[in-house]
Amino acid sequence: MHELSLCQSLIQLTERIANSYNASKVIGVTVEMGTAVAIEEDTFRFCFDAVANDTIADGSKLTIEWIRLKLQCQLCGNSYHPTSPVIPEPCPQCGSFDTKCLSGREFTVKHIEVEEKAKEIELH
Ligand SMILES: [Zn+2]
Repeated sequence: MHELSLCQSLIQLTERIANSYNASKVIGVTVEMGTAVAIEEDTFRFCFDAVANDTIADGSKLTIEWIRLKLQCQLCGNSYHPTSPVIPEPCPQCGSFDTKCLSGREFTVKHIEVEEKAKEIELH
């Protein structure tokens, strides 16, 4: 399942970031997600919670920031948002299928919210 493998890499990356910042717990994860990645949001959220279980990100809140697919025609230079993120559509201006993806394929961690490890204070 597409969603499951994406969540596994997302949690691995989150754990790496959290460890490098000496965090004890991740409470929130924000991802930028292109609509052309074509995930099913409910499935993705379900997989995220399942994969995060028993990791540093257990119970963390997932926020998804969607980025619309934007294409640029290589023939006339017109850029446009196709109505479907997955089915190829020709340039509305000249009908060419020769397009370049400008945005909409993103899958990146934008922001994570963590709790730091409790600090110990030596008194003696
Ligand atoms: Zn065009």
